[in-house]
Amino acid sequence: MSWWDEWGPALPVEGGLVVSGTMRAARLGERPKSVGSDIIRRMLESVNTGIATRGRSYARNGQTVTMTIEKGRIHATVQGSAATPYSVTIACTVPEDRRQRLIEAFEHALVDPSKGIPARGTPALRDEIDTCALLDGVDITAKCTCPYGEVCKHCIALAYVAADRLDGSPIAVATFMGVRDDDLSAARGTRDSTPNPPSVPEYDARRQAKLARTLARLDGRAAPSADDVIRRASKVLRPPASVAEQLGLGPAEERS
Ligand SMILES: [Zn+2]
Repeated sequence: MSWWDEWGPALPVEGGLVVSGTMRAARLGERPKSVGSDIIRRMLESVNTGIATRGRSYARNGQTVTMTIEKGRIHATVQGSAATPYSVTIACTVPEDRRQRLIEAFEHALVDPSKGIPARGTPALRDEIDTCALLDGVDITAKCTCPYGEVCKHCIALAYVAADRLDGSPIAVATFMGVRDDDLSAARGTRDSTPNPPSVPEYDARRQAKLARTLARLDGRAAPSADDVIRRASKVLRPPASVAEQLGLGPAEERS
């Protein structure tokens, strides 16, 4: 087999992985808007337009037979024109000095890594995961067992299919970037053992009684509004400043 074999038509794949929705336009020179489009952009930088076009066509036609996202890499088999599918790998190498920061970002953004539900996290960290800033300074490489020898259409096809999967799953991004559940639980353990000042004041019996009396006074009204209740309760309970602000109660006053 020579590189010339790869110019023949690709063998059709039954049930191959197809890129969902519109094929994203990850244009060269543009700031990518997601981890997936950043990977595509980097792959496209290494190829000519002919390879890029054929790779996109492979992705669209479902030439990717299998794909797994493993720690630090995405592995796939992509069917070309030869009888046996090629083995394609896109690898991610995170510099050691960025690794801890990365683990922290994922640890905050993924509430339950075993289920992969992105539910909690500070907006800044979530944003970090949603955007390409996550890949800054990170090395992404691709290789394929086909005879072409450089970044090929099979790598391009995988980049598109993988981008689809990565952009729908922060846990997949974490795995690709080499962050595993045990890294996250280690980070969580460190954080949980750090003593934090209680953010909620303790409500003693005296204050509870005062709250009950305060709210009871509202009972005489025809229909106290929810705002009334919250405002009165907050005078007794003195919520933390951030909560007071969210409730529209203004800055906390010193109350006795
Ligand atoms: Zn190839």
